[in-house]
This record gives sequence, C-alpha cells and structure tokens, in this order.
Amino acid sequence: MKRRIAVKVGSNVLTRADGNLDFTRMSALVDQIVELRRRDFDVVLISSGAVASGRGELREDVPPLDEVAARQLFASVGQAKLMNRYFELFRNAGMLCGQVLTTKEHFSTREHYRNQKRCVEVMLAHGVVPVVNENDAVSVTELMFTDNDELSGLIAEMIGASALVILSNVDGVFDGDPATPSSRVIREIRAGDEIGKFISAKKSEQGRGGMESKCGVARRIAAAGVPVVIANGRREDILLKIFDDPAGTVCTRFIA
Ligand code: GLU
Repeated sequence: MKRRIAVKVGSNVLTRADGNLDFTRMSALVDQIVELRRRDFDVVLISSGAVASGRGELREDVPPLDEVAARQLFASVGQAKLMNRYFELFRNAGMLCGQVLTTKEHFSTREHYRNQKRCVEVMLAHGVVPVVNENDAVSVTELMFTDNDELSGLIAEMIGASALVILSNVDGVFDGDPATPSSRVIREIRAGDEIGKFISAKKSEQGRGGMESKCGVARRIAAAGVPVVIANGRREDILLKIFDDPAGTVCTRFIA
C-alpha cells in the first residue's frame, strides 16, 4: 500500500476576509497535493469552507434566518462552489478529485463506516483525490461533528494514514499569545507534555474549530501512532516543506 497522508484545510485558509474563496490559495494547495501524488503518496483532503463560501455568496440576499437554517442554506450553495473549483483545479493539473460528504452517523454504524471506507479506497485505487467534508446541509446541532478537526482525525484513522497534516492560519501551537512578538511556536509535542496553559480557547473566525480542538485531536491521533503536524496553510509550499525540510519549517509536530 502507498503511504497515505490526510490533509485537513480550514475555512480560514481557504477564504478571504470577505468570506469569498481564495482561489490563489486553493490552486497552490492543489499543486502541492498533485506533487505529493507524483511522489507516490495517496492524499485524502478534508476541506472546510462550504459554510463560509456560501455565506460570502448569499449574504446580501438572505432575510433573517435562524442559525441552523442559515448554515444549511450557506452549506448547500458553498459546497457546490467549493467542489466546482477543486474539480477544475485538479483537472487542469491532470488529476481527478471527487466529493465525499459524510455525517457523524457514518462513523457510528459498522455498515455505514464500511461503505464509506470502500468509497475512499476505490477512489484512491483509481487515482481520484477524495475531498471530504461534513454534509453540513443535512447534519445539524447534536448530530454534527465538533468541527472538521475531529472529522480529519477520524478519516486519518479510517485510511490508515502515515501522517495527518492540519493546515490552519497560524504557524502552530505557540507558547504564548500568537499576537505577542515574544511568543514562539512549540516545535514538538510528546505524550505527557503539559501544553494546556498555552492553548487559547478562542474559536476560528470562519469555521467552528480552534487551537484547543486541534490539539485535542492531534494528541489523540498521535497517541494512536499517527504523527500529526499543525502548520500554516497560508505559507508557500508548506505541505511539501513539512516533508522536505523538517528542521527549517516552522510548525508543531505531535510525535506519535
Ligand atoms: N464543515 C464546515 C464547512 O465546510 C466547517 C467546519 C469547521 O469549521 O470545522 O464549512
């Protein structure tokens, strides 16, 4: 079996401040995934951005809606927009991608889980890059994943990944407030390291996650034997540098 990498990319990486998709960033990300495929890695992309990009598209036209209905509406439009763009970008690079939308239920019964796993396996076997997201249009409130960080951990386990990379809009886990110049990125975190005091409970602006949830997932997955990297998805060629220049690339590695 080829080595497999699960790559999670957050809404804050994929969208601009006005909520619209950042096509330049998406294109750069796709190029890096294509390069990893060329190096014989299987890559599964867990991509957020549906709700944020749908919101960007509809904001002007939407009368006041309750939070759940608004999220469903934004996700239904935004997911189509997101996949449309990924599809074109991968195809221009000579590859195919496909969409896998999932819900918490798909991880809770054996049959659902098996079907989902089979789907991802057949895609990988045929050189199709699975682009996974929660089916936000139909999963609501208590039936939702905490966020796509949780989902990316479950996917990494499902595919037997040799690494999980979580791309965010910060360089990693800082030893203080990331906005303070004296704060530094913690380069390695091992089981038992006390990091709670460094982690802010602040949530992501565009998505549902935050550093607390990323670290929770990263610790759990690293404890299960899969190394996890939290890095800045806005840095040039970050996905490749994580592997090509481990010492020189600022990010946080959770040692398996
Ligand atoms: N699934 C959500 C989306 O695509 C993002 C959830 C999260 O922020 O983790 O918009």
